[in-house]
Amino acid sequence: MYTLISGKEVSEKILEEIKQEVATLKKKPHLAAILVGEDPASQTYVNSKIKACERVGITSTLVKLRDETTEDILLQKIEELNLNADIDGYIVQLPLPKHISEQKIIETIHPAKDVDGFHPINIGKLVLNLPTYISATPYGIVQLLQHYNIVTQGKHCVVIGRSNIVGTPMSILMGKNNAHANCTVTLCHSKTENLSQYTLQADIVIAAMGKAHFVKADMIKEGAVVIDVGINRVPSTETKSGFKLVGDVDFIQVAPKCSYITPVPGGVGLMTIVSLLKNTLLAAKKEIYS
Ligand code: NAD
Repeated sequence: MYTLISGKEVSEKILEEIKQEVATLKKKPHLAAILVGEDPASQTYVNSKIKACERVGITSTLVKLRDETTEDILLQKIEELNLNADIDGYIVQLPLPKHISEQKIIETIHPAKDVDGFHPINIGKLVLNLPTYISATPYGIVQLLQHYNIVTQGKHCVVIGRSNIVGTPMSILMGKNNAHANCTVTLCHSKTENLSQYTLQADIVIAAMGKAHFVKADMIKEGAVVIDVGINRVPSTETKSGFKLVGDVDFIQVAPKCSYITPVPGGVGLMTIVSLLKNTLLAAKKEIYS
């Protein structure tokens, strides 16, 4: 029988801890979010982040820009936020419209305010094991593993997906020399041949590929820990909206083989928001950059 890793339960506990800490601060932390365009998924994510801020007493500011906003205007907005001493940290919700270079935008965010942990300096610090803002989703996953006391040391962790925001930082974190990591890590991606030969050896599988129900039971070893990062919108006759969110893992098939597994929704997604708030708190306390 598997244990369901409840992102809801763990995130609630951490939100409460953040709330208590915020209450002790003289000035409330301030997080800003830039949202460009009308993408419904991005709007939902940003709204959830703002709601979470309200819940823990973090001040939030939403900067909404139209889809046709030029790269120059967005860069100007970012410079304003860099200079605004009242704002401790901010995020630019991805993806951006095609005419804007995400890399250029990320590199313009001041590293001290980059609470998503996407700036090359912050990723570099992560690689070198220096204090930094850890990218929110991988950080959330590490906290889940810790909360459930899942043994990682000496285990083989297979990460599927090598994006800059999830797969790559995740693989780095799991290979670190500390008690909550120390895994032997294999990073798989779209050019990996015979993916199953790797996943079948894995004690821990972290699926972050963005392919609905791709990971099947015959790809997973008996007793493995499976962390599903995917959020995929698929058509559904069960919901009013006509779609539902599913992960990269075929949960119904895979769960009976696992020791631990995360659901979608209710797993990693909630932890991503909590991690962003933790990073905002670090920014407000000037713990990473003084
Ligand atoms: P991405 O599209 O940038 O990267 C996907 C990665 O998967 C790529 O590196 C690619 O090489 C790999 N990949 C694709 N097909 C593959 C295959 N058949 N075999 C092996 N590897 C394959 O996506 P991303 O931004 O890293 O997001 C991945 C998923 O996680 C998406 O569903 C996204 O919505 C979700 N996500 C969830 C959260 C959360 O908070 N839960 C946060 C960020 C992203």
